[in-house]
Amino acid sequence: MYWEKEIETLERKDLEKLQVERLMKTLNQAVHSPYYGRVPEIRKAIKTGINLIEQIRELPFTTKDDLRNDFPWGFLASDKRDVVRLHSSSGTTGNPTAVYHNKHDLNSWANLMARSLFAAGVRDTDVFQNMAGYGLFTGGLGFQYGVEMLGCLSIPAGAGTTVAHAIPSYLGRLYDVFKEEGLDPRKDTKLHTLVIGAEPHTEEHRLRIQEMFGVKAYNSFGLSEMNGPGVAFECTEQNGLHIWEDAFIVEIIDPITLKPVADGEIGELVMTTLDRQAMPVIRYRTRDLTRFLPGECKCGRTHRRLDRIAGRSDDMFIIKGCNVFPMQIEGVLMKLPEVGEDYRILLETIDDQDEMIVEVEVKKDWFKGDLSFLDKLQKHITHLVRDEVLVRPLIKLVEPGSIPKNEGKAVRVFDHRKK
Ligand SMILES: [Zn+2]
Repeated sequence: MYWEKEIETLERKDLEKLQVERLMKTLNQAVHSPYYGRVPEIRKAIKTGINLIEQIRELPFTTKDDLRNDFPWGFLASDKRDVVRLHSSSGTTGNPTAVYHNKHDLNSWANLMARSLFAAGVRDTDVFQNMAGYGLFTGGLGFQYGVEMLGCLSIPAGAGTTVAHAIPSYLGRLYDVFKEEGLDPRKDTKLHTLVIGAEPHTEEHRLRIQEMFGVKAYNSFGLSEMNGPGVAFECTEQNGLHIWEDAFIVEIIDPITLKPVADGEIGELVMTTLDRQAMPVIRYRTRDLTRFLPGECKCGRTHRRLDRIAGRSDDMFIIKGCNVFPMQIEGVLMKLPEVGEDYRILLETIDDQDEMIVEVEVKKDWFKGDLSFLDKLQKHITHLVRDEVLVRPLIKLVEPGSIPKNEGKAVRVFDHRKK
Protein backbone atom coordinates (compact mmCIF):
# COMPACT_ATOMS: atom_id res chain seq x y z
CA MET A 1 0.00 0.00 0.00
CA TYR A 2 2.86 2.42 0.76
CA TRP A 3 6.35 2.94 -0.64
CA GLU A 4 7.61 4.23 2.74
CA LYS A 5 4.89 3.56 5.26
CA GLU A 6 6.50 5.24 8.25
CA ILE A 7 7.18 8.58 6.60
CA GLU A 8 3.95 8.63 4.54
CA THR A 9 1.75 8.03 7.59
CA LEU A 10 3.78 9.99 10.15
CA GLU A 11 1.60 11.79 12.69
CA ARG A 12 1.27 15.50 12.02
CA LYS A 13 3.14 16.59 15.13
CA ASP A 14 6.06 14.32 14.29
CA LEU A 15 5.99 15.45 10.69
CA GLU A 16 6.23 19.08 11.82
CA LYS A 17 9.07 18.25 14.18
CA LEU A 18 10.92 16.65 11.28
CA GLN A 19 10.24 19.72 9.16
CA VAL A 20 11.72 22.06 11.76
CA GLU A 21 14.84 19.90 12.06
CA ARG A 22 15.27 19.74 8.31
CA LEU A 23 14.61 23.45 7.94
CA MET A 24 17.50 24.26 10.28
CA LYS A 25 19.74 21.92 8.34
CA THR A 26 18.62 23.53 5.08
CA LEU A 27 19.32 27.05 6.35
CA ASN A 28 22.78 26.02 7.47
CA GLN A 29 23.42 24.69 3.98
CA ALA A 30 21.76 27.58 2.10
CA VAL A 31 23.90 30.20 3.83
CA HIS A 32 26.89 28.89 1.87
CA SER A 33 25.37 30.20 -1.36
CA PRO A 34 26.32 33.74 -2.41
CA TYR A 35 22.63 34.74 -2.50
CA TYR A 36 21.40 33.43 0.87
CA GLY A 37 24.73 34.35 2.45
CA ARG A 38 23.63 37.97 1.95
CA VAL A 39 20.23 37.54 3.65
CA PRO A 40 20.40 38.80 7.26
CA GLU A 41 17.18 37.00 8.34
CA ILE A 42 18.77 33.66 7.46
CA ARG A 43 21.91 34.40 9.46
CA LYS A 44 19.71 35.47 12.36
CA ALA A 45 17.56 32.31 12.20
CA ILE A 46 20.68 30.16 12.22
CA LYS A 47 21.94 31.99 15.29
CA THR A 48 18.71 32.00 17.33
CA GLY A 49 17.25 28.73 16.01
CA ILE A 50 13.72 27.90 14.88
CA ASN A 51 11.34 25.92 17.11
CA LEU A 52 8.00 26.29 15.39
CA ILE A 53 7.21 25.79 11.75
CA GLU A 54 5.33 29.13 11.68
CA GLN A 55 8.61 30.94 12.31
CA ILE A 56 9.47 30.34 8.67
CA ARG A 57 7.33 33.42 8.01
CA GLU A 58 10.14 35.56 9.41
CA LEU A 59 12.29 34.61 6.43
CA PRO A 60 12.03 36.52 3.13
CA PHE A 61 10.52 35.02 -0.04
CA THR A 62 12.56 33.93 -3.03
CA THR A 63 11.15 34.78 -6.47
CA LYS A 64 11.83 33.65 -10.00
CA ASP A 65 13.45 37.03 -10.62
CA ASP A 66 15.87 36.39 -7.75
CA LEU A 67 16.85 33.10 -9.38
CA ARG A 68 17.28 34.84 -12.73
CA ASN A 69 19.22 37.79 -11.41
CA ASP A 70 21.74 35.58 -9.63
CA PHE A 71 22.15 33.24 -12.61
CA PRO A 72 24.26 31.15 -12.98
CA TRP A 73 25.92 30.43 -9.62
CA GLY A 74 24.24 32.67 -7.03
CA PHE A 75 22.12 29.91 -5.46
CA LEU A 76 24.71 27.15 -5.50
CA ALA A 77 25.37 26.16 -1.88
CA SER A 78 27.91 23.42 -2.44
CA ASP A 79 31.18 22.87 -4.24
CA LYS A 80 30.79 22.93 -8.03
CA ARG A 81 32.56 19.59 -8.18
CA ASP A 82 29.70 17.92 -6.29
CA VAL A 83 27.08 19.01 -8.81
CA VAL A 84 26.09 16.21 -11.18
CA ARG A 85 23.00 17.53 -12.95
CA LEU A 86 21.61 20.82 -14.19
CA HIS A 87 17.97 21.48 -15.05
CA SER A 88 16.43 24.65 -16.31
CA SER A 89 12.85 25.78 -16.28
CA SER A 90 10.97 25.74 -19.56
CA GLY A 91 8.93 28.33 -21.35
CA THR A 92 10.35 31.41 -19.69
CA THR A 93 11.61 34.66 -21.15
CA GLY A 94 14.72 36.60 -20.15
CA ASN A 95 17.62 35.13 -18.22
CA PRO A 96 17.24 31.37 -17.72
CA THR A 97 17.08 29.83 -14.28
CA ALA A 98 19.32 26.94 -13.37
CA VAL A 99 18.72 24.29 -10.73
CA TYR A 100 21.66 22.15 -9.61
CA HIS A 101 21.60 18.70 -8.07
CA ASN A 102 24.26 16.61 -6.39
CA LYS A 103 24.05 12.83 -6.04
CA HIS A 104 22.08 13.01 -2.79
CA ASP A 105 19.56 15.37 -4.39
CA LEU A 106 18.99 13.11 -7.39
CA ASN A 107 18.52 10.11 -5.15
CA SER A 108 16.07 11.97 -2.93
CA TRP A 109 14.13 13.19 -5.98
CA ALA A 110 13.96 9.72 -7.57
CA ASN A 111 12.64 8.39 -4.26
CA LEU A 112 9.87 11.02 -4.11
CA MET A 113 8.96 10.15 -7.68
CA ALA A 114 8.84 6.42 -6.90
CA ARG A 115 6.74 7.14 -3.80
CA SER A 116 4.34 9.22 -5.90
CA LEU A 117 3.88 6.60 -8.60
CA PHE A 118 3.43 3.87 -6.01
CA ALA A 119 0.68 5.95 -4.37
CA ALA A 120 -1.10 6.04 -7.74
CA GLY A 121 -1.02 2.25 -7.92
CA VAL A 122 2.01 1.78 -10.18
CA ARG A 123 3.99 -1.36 -9.34
CA ASP A 124 7.24 -3.04 -10.40
CA THR A 125 5.28 -5.31 -12.74
CA ASP A 126 4.25 -2.34 -14.89
CA VAL A 127 5.70 -1.29 -18.22
CA PHE A 128 6.18 2.43 -18.25
CA GLN A 129 6.43 4.76 -21.20
CA ASN A 130 7.33 8.40 -20.69
CA MET A 131 5.91 10.59 -23.46
CA ALA A 132 7.33 13.81 -22.02
CA GLY A 133 10.36 15.45 -23.59
CA TYR A 134 13.73 14.65 -22.04
CA GLY A 135 16.47 17.26 -21.74
CA LEU A 136 16.32 20.35 -19.60
CA PHE A 137 12.59 19.80 -19.03
CA THR A 138 12.32 17.86 -15.77
CA GLY A 139 9.37 15.71 -16.88
CA GLY A 140 11.76 13.43 -18.77
CA LEU A 141 14.60 12.40 -16.47
CA GLY A 142 12.50 13.12 -13.37
CA PHE A 143 10.11 10.31 -14.23
CA GLN A 144 12.80 8.06 -15.68
CA TYR A 145 14.82 7.74 -12.47
CA GLY A 146 11.73 7.38 -10.30
CA VAL A 147 10.32 4.66 -12.52
CA GLU A 148 13.62 2.79 -12.39
CA MET A 149 13.81 3.10 -8.60
CA LEU A 150 10.28 1.73 -8.34
CA GLY A 151 11.34 -1.16 -10.52
CA CYS A 152 9.05 -0.84 -13.54
CA LEU A 153 10.28 -1.81 -16.97
CA SER A 154 10.73 1.50 -18.75
CA ILE A 155 10.54 1.57 -22.51
CA PRO A 156 11.04 4.52 -24.89
CA ALA A 157 8.04 3.42 -26.98
CA GLY A 158 6.33 0.27 -28.03
CA ALA A 159 3.66 -2.29 -27.40
CA GLY A 160 2.84 -3.57 -23.94
CA THR A 161 2.86 -0.21 -22.16
CA THR A 162 0.66 -0.37 -19.05
CA VAL A 163 1.43 3.07 -17.56
CA ALA A 164 2.35 6.25 -19.39
CA HIS A 165 3.16 9.83 -18.48
CA ALA A 166 2.16 12.64 -20.83
CA ILE A 167 1.03 16.22 -20.78
CA PRO A 168 -2.75 16.58 -21.24
CA SER A 169 -2.63 18.52 -24.52
CA TYR A 170 -0.44 15.80 -26.06
CA LEU A 171 -2.97 13.10 -25.20
CA GLY A 172 -5.62 14.82 -27.29
CA ARG A 173 -3.35 14.65 -30.32
CA LEU A 174 -2.41 11.06 -29.56
CA TYR A 175 -6.07 10.07 -29.42
CA ASP A 176 -6.68 11.65 -32.83
CA VAL A 177 -3.81 9.61 -34.28
CA PHE A 178 -5.27 6.41 -32.81
CA LYS A 179 -8.60 7.19 -34.46
CA GLU A 180 -7.01 8.03 -37.81
CA GLU A 181 -5.25 4.64 -37.72
CA GLY A 182 -8.58 2.98 -37.00
CA LEU A 183 -7.51 1.95 -33.50
CA ASP A 184 -9.33 2.24 -30.20
CA PRO A 185 -6.93 2.85 -27.30
CA ARG A 186 -9.52 1.34 -24.94
CA LYS A 187 -9.29 -2.04 -26.64
CA ASP A 188 -6.06 -1.98 -28.62
CA THR A 189 -3.62 -1.12 -25.81
CA LYS A 190 -2.77 -2.59 -22.39
CA LEU A 191 -2.72 0.85 -20.81
CA HIS A 192 -4.43 1.02 -17.39
CA THR A 193 -2.92 4.19 -15.90
CA LEU A 194 -1.98 7.61 -17.25
CA VAL A 195 -0.05 10.17 -15.28
CA ILE A 196 -0.86 13.67 -16.43
CA GLY A 197 0.77 16.88 -15.37
CA ALA A 198 2.95 19.87 -16.28
CA GLU A 199 -0.09 21.74 -17.60
CA PRO A 200 -2.94 22.91 -15.42
CA HIS A 201 -6.11 21.14 -16.45
CA THR A 202 -9.63 20.80 -15.17
CA GLU A 203 -11.43 17.84 -13.63
CA GLU A 204 -13.56 17.72 -16.80
CA HIS A 205 -10.41 17.33 -18.87
CA ARG A 206 -9.23 14.46 -16.66
CA LEU A 207 -12.58 12.67 -16.97
CA ARG A 208 -12.41 13.07 -20.70
CA ILE A 209 -8.91 11.58 -20.85
CA GLN A 210 -10.04 8.62 -18.72
CA GLU A 211 -12.95 8.06 -21.06
CA MET A 212 -10.88 8.32 -24.26
CA PHE A 213 -8.20 5.87 -23.16
CA GLY A 214 -10.21 3.68 -20.79
CA VAL A 215 -7.74 4.28 -17.94
CA LYS A 216 -7.37 5.92 -14.55
CA ALA A 217 -5.62 9.28 -14.98
CA TYR A 218 -3.66 10.66 -12.05
CA ASN A 219 -2.67 14.24 -11.58
CA SER A 220 1.01 14.99 -11.01
CA PHE A 221 2.44 18.32 -9.90
CA GLY A 222 5.96 19.61 -9.82
CA LEU A 223 8.16 22.49 -10.85
CA SER A 224 11.82 22.57 -11.74
CA GLU A 225 12.73 24.92 -8.87
CA MET A 226 11.46 22.20 -6.49
CA ASN A 227 13.14 19.37 -8.52
CA GLY A 228 10.36 18.74 -11.02
CA PRO A 229 7.71 16.01 -10.96
CA GLY A 230 7.23 14.17 -7.67
CA VAL A 231 6.39 17.23 -5.55
CA ALA A 232 2.70 16.36 -5.17
CA PHE A 233 0.74 13.45 -6.56
CA GLU A 234 -2.69 11.91 -6.41
CA CYS A 235 -3.15 8.64 -4.60
CA THR A 236 -5.68 6.07 -5.82
CA GLU A 237 -8.48 8.03 -4.08
CA GLN A 238 -8.08 10.64 -6.86
CA ASN A 239 -9.07 13.33 -4.44
CA GLY A 240 -6.34 15.96 -4.32
CA LEU A 241 -2.55 15.73 -4.53
CA HIS A 242 -0.55 14.67 -1.48
CA ILE A 243 2.33 17.09 -1.18
CA TRP A 244 5.39 15.42 0.36
CA GLU A 245 5.90 17.42 3.51
CA ASP A 246 9.03 15.62 4.65
CA ALA A 247 10.70 17.12 1.57
CA PHE A 248 8.99 20.51 1.41
CA ILE A 249 7.44 23.10 3.68
CA VAL A 250 4.26 24.29 2.04
CA GLU A 251 2.56 27.65 2.57
CA ILE A 252 -0.37 29.24 0.75
CA ILE A 253 -0.37 33.02 0.74
CA ASP A 254 -2.44 35.88 -0.56
CA PRO A 255 -0.39 37.10 -3.55
CA ILE A 256 -1.24 40.73 -2.78
CA THR A 257 -0.85 40.97 1.03
CA LEU A 258 1.71 38.11 1.18
CA LYS A 259 0.01 36.86 4.37
CA PRO A 260 -1.13 33.25 4.79
CA VAL A 261 -4.70 32.68 3.57
CA ALA A 262 -7.29 31.01 5.80
CA ASP A 263 -7.17 27.22 5.66
CA GLY A 264 -8.94 25.97 2.56
CA GLU A 265 -8.80 29.27 0.67
CA ILE A 266 -7.13 29.63 -2.72
CA GLY A 267 -3.83 31.45 -2.81
CA GLU A 268 -0.29 31.26 -4.13
CA LEU A 269 1.73 28.18 -3.29
CA VAL A 270 5.03 28.94 -1.53
CA MET A 271 7.56 26.16 -1.03
CA THR A 272 10.82 25.51 0.80
CA THR A 273 13.08 22.56 0.00
CA LEU A 274 13.97 20.39 3.01
CA ASP A 275 16.17 17.70 1.54
CA ARG A 276 18.26 19.42 -1.09
CA GLN A 277 21.97 20.11 -0.67
CA ALA A 278 23.37 21.62 -3.87
CA MET A 279 20.66 24.25 -4.16
CA PRO A 280 18.27 24.78 -1.28
CA VAL A 281 15.48 27.26 -2.05
CA ILE A 282 13.71 29.09 0.77
CA ARG A 283 10.07 30.24 0.55
CA TYR A 284 9.86 30.11 -3.22
CA ARG A 285 6.87 31.89 -4.70
CA THR A 286 5.68 29.39 -7.29
CA ARG A 287 2.96 31.65 -8.81
CA ASP A 288 0.73 28.57 -8.85
CA LEU A 289 -2.70 29.04 -7.35
CA THR A 290 -4.20 26.29 -5.24
CA ARG A 291 -5.62 25.48 -1.80
CA PHE A 292 -5.34 22.83 0.86
CA LEU A 293 -8.17 20.31 0.80
CA PRO A 294 -9.78 19.86 4.22
CA GLY A 295 -9.95 16.58 6.09
CA GLU A 296 -7.97 13.37 6.02
CA CYS A 297 -7.44 11.13 3.03
CA LYS A 298 -8.89 7.63 3.14
CA CYS A 299 -5.54 6.23 2.00
CA GLY A 300 -4.04 6.94 5.42
CA ARG A 301 -1.28 9.26 4.24
CA THR A 302 -0.91 12.21 6.58
CA HIS A 303 0.75 14.58 4.12
CA ARG A 304 -1.73 17.29 3.22
CA ARG A 305 -3.53 17.38 -0.12
CA LEU A 306 -3.50 20.23 -2.60
CA ASP A 307 -6.41 20.93 -4.87
CA ARG A 308 -5.60 20.82 -8.56
CA ILE A 309 -3.75 23.93 -9.71
CA ALA A 310 -6.31 26.63 -10.48
CA GLY A 311 -3.94 28.46 -12.82
CA ARG A 312 -0.99 30.77 -12.39
CA SER A 313 -1.15 34.15 -10.79
CA ASP A 314 0.72 35.34 -13.96
CA ASP A 315 -1.83 33.80 -16.36
CA MET A 316 -4.60 35.93 -15.02
CA PHE A 317 -5.51 38.73 -17.38
CA ILE A 318 -7.79 41.66 -16.94
CA ILE A 319 -10.26 42.51 -19.67
CA LYS A 320 -13.10 45.02 -19.41
CA GLY A 321 -12.31 45.31 -15.72
CA CYS A 322 -12.74 41.59 -14.96
CA ASN A 323 -10.06 39.21 -13.72
CA VAL A 324 -10.05 36.12 -15.92
CA PHE A 325 -8.17 32.82 -15.52
CA PRO A 326 -7.81 30.65 -18.65
CA MET A 327 -8.75 27.63 -16.51
CA GLN A 328 -12.23 29.06 -16.00
CA ILE A 329 -12.76 29.06 -19.76
CA GLU A 330 -11.26 25.59 -20.14
CA GLY A 331 -13.63 24.34 -17.47
CA VAL A 332 -16.60 25.50 -19.55
CA LEU A 333 -15.28 24.14 -22.86
CA MET A 334 -14.30 20.69 -21.64
CA LYS A 335 -17.82 19.98 -20.42
CA LEU A 336 -19.13 20.16 -23.98
CA PRO A 337 -19.02 16.92 -25.99
CA GLU A 338 -18.80 18.81 -29.30
CA VAL A 339 -15.60 20.60 -28.31
CA GLY A 340 -12.20 19.14 -29.29
CA GLU A 341 -8.98 19.14 -27.28
CA ASP A 342 -7.58 22.52 -28.18
CA TYR A 343 -8.50 26.14 -27.71
CA ARG A 344 -6.76 29.48 -27.44
CA ILE A 345 -7.61 32.92 -26.20
CA LEU A 346 -6.67 35.98 -28.24
CA LEU A 347 -6.91 39.41 -26.68
CA GLU A 348 -7.25 42.03 -29.43
CA THR A 349 -8.07 45.67 -29.76
CA ILE A 350 -10.91 46.04 -32.30
CA ASP A 351 -12.20 49.56 -33.04
CA ASP A 352 -10.53 50.83 -29.85
CA GLN A 353 -12.36 48.18 -27.81
CA ASP A 354 -10.57 45.34 -26.07
CA GLU A 355 -12.07 42.00 -27.06
CA MET A 356 -11.56 38.44 -25.90
CA ILE A 357 -11.64 36.04 -28.85
CA VAL A 358 -11.80 32.37 -27.96
CA GLU A 359 -10.90 29.97 -30.76
CA VAL A 360 -12.43 26.59 -30.07
CA GLU A 361 -11.74 23.38 -31.95
CA VAL A 362 -14.88 21.45 -32.79
CA LYS A 363 -14.63 17.66 -33.08
CA LYS A 364 -14.52 16.25 -36.58
CA ASP A 365 -17.87 14.43 -36.33
CA TRP A 366 -19.58 17.67 -35.42
CA PHE A 367 -17.75 19.97 -37.84
CA LYS A 368 -19.78 18.94 -40.88
CA GLY A 369 -20.94 22.13 -42.51
CA ASP A 370 -24.35 22.22 -40.85
CA LEU A 371 -24.28 25.95 -40.36
CA SER A 372 -27.34 26.25 -38.18
CA PHE A 373 -25.91 23.68 -35.79
CA LEU A 374 -22.56 25.50 -35.58
CA ASP A 375 -24.36 28.79 -35.14
CA LYS A 376 -26.31 27.36 -32.20
CA LEU A 377 -23.18 25.90 -30.65
CA GLN A 378 -21.37 29.21 -30.96
CA LYS A 379 -24.18 31.07 -29.20
CA HIS A 380 -24.34 28.40 -26.51
CA ILE A 381 -20.60 28.66 -25.76
CA THR A 382 -20.75 32.46 -25.78
CA HIS A 383 -23.43 32.27 -23.12
CA LEU A 384 -21.62 29.76 -20.92
CA VAL A 385 -18.29 31.61 -21.01
CA ARG A 386 -19.95 34.92 -20.31
CA ASP A 387 -21.73 33.46 -17.29
CA GLU A 388 -18.44 32.08 -15.99
CA VAL A 389 -16.08 35.05 -16.44
CA LEU A 390 -18.61 37.92 -16.73
CA VAL A 391 -17.12 39.12 -20.02
CA ARG A 392 -18.82 38.46 -23.35
CA PRO A 393 -16.35 36.59 -25.56
CA LEU A 394 -16.21 36.39 -29.35
CA ILE A 395 -16.34 32.64 -29.93
CA LYS A 396 -14.75 31.36 -33.13
CA LEU A 397 -15.36 27.70 -33.94
CA VAL A 398 -12.51 26.16 -35.90
CA GLU A 399 -11.74 22.81 -37.53
CA PRO A 400 -9.93 20.17 -35.52
CA GLY A 401 -6.16 20.49 -35.83
CA SER A 402 -6.26 24.08 -37.05
CA ILE A 403 -4.90 25.70 -33.89
CA PRO A 404 -1.09 25.85 -34.15
CA LYS A 405 0.55 23.47 -31.66
CA ASN A 406 3.30 24.53 -29.37
CA GLU A 407 6.29 22.37 -28.53
CA GLY A 408 6.07 21.38 -24.88
CA LYS A 409 3.47 23.10 -22.74
CA ALA A 410 0.43 24.58 -24.43
CA VAL A 411 0.29 28.38 -24.54
CA ARG A 412 -3.33 29.44 -24.22
CA VAL A 413 -3.38 33.23 -24.07
CA PHE A 414 -2.07 35.64 -26.72
CA ASP A 415 -2.31 39.28 -25.79
CA HIS A 416 -2.18 41.51 -28.90
CA ARG A 417 -3.91 44.48 -27.33
CA LYS A 418 -2.70 48.01 -27.95
CA LYS A 419 -1.31 49.08 -24.61
ZN1 LIG B 1 -4.52 9.68 -0.25
